[in-house]
Amino acid sequence: MARYTGNVCRLCRREGYKLFLKGRRCESDKCAVDRRNVPPGMNIRSRPRRLSDYGVHLREKQKVKRIFGVMERQFRRYFQMADTMRGNTGVNLLTILERRMDNVVDATGLSLSRAHARQLINHGHFTVNGRKVDIPSYMVRVGDVIAPIAKEKSKKIVSECLELNNDKSAPSWLALDSDQKSVKVVNLPAREDLRFQDIQEQFIVELCSK
Ligand code: SF4
Repeated sequence: MARYTGNVCRLCRREGYKLFLKGRRCESDKCAVDRRNVPPGMNIRSRPRRLSDYGVHLREKQKVKRIFGVMERQFRRYFQMADTMRGNTGVNLLTILERRMDNVVDATGLSLSRAHARQLINHGHFTVNGRKVDIPSYMVRVGDVIAPIAKEKSKKIVSECLELNNDKSAPSWLALDSDQKSVKVVNLPAREDLRFQDIQEQFIVELCSK
């Protein structure tokens, strides 16, 4: 699956919003948005342009795609899925994204960042309900248990990540067992469980429904 491989801090500066793509660095004073919150490129002195409604909606969609590291085609698939589900399409879309396995690994501190979570999953370091899963977009279900594979190396990597993230608390829909280094999905995420509360999902729905 294609993915963005450039400088991720540029993406945050483009959105003027902290997307938290670099783990602990995002909370340090080295964060590029905190230091220099201007869009990347040459014309940083020019006055910021006023966005049209379409522009505002597009930026919101790009922001969400960048937070979760998904490309356009996959995002459209998620939108179609959300649209066919019961309830609010925008909330459905965000909860589908939240249920991605790379998001679960990152949110619970089993990795150092979302990109690291993706890499660990791709390299086969994790199991779901005891079976190896190496697909970062795997969508977790209630009752799933995500744990490192029974290899010393995998357990060691996850232990080190948990130690470095010991001040991070898992979202309420996930139960982290630090001793077992595993995570259980106790509920499906609700709107209030999402890490990025200020996303305007209705803008994305308006844009994608056209
Ligand atoms: Fe974004 Fe993190 Fe880079 Fe800050 S440090 S600009 S939040 S990726």
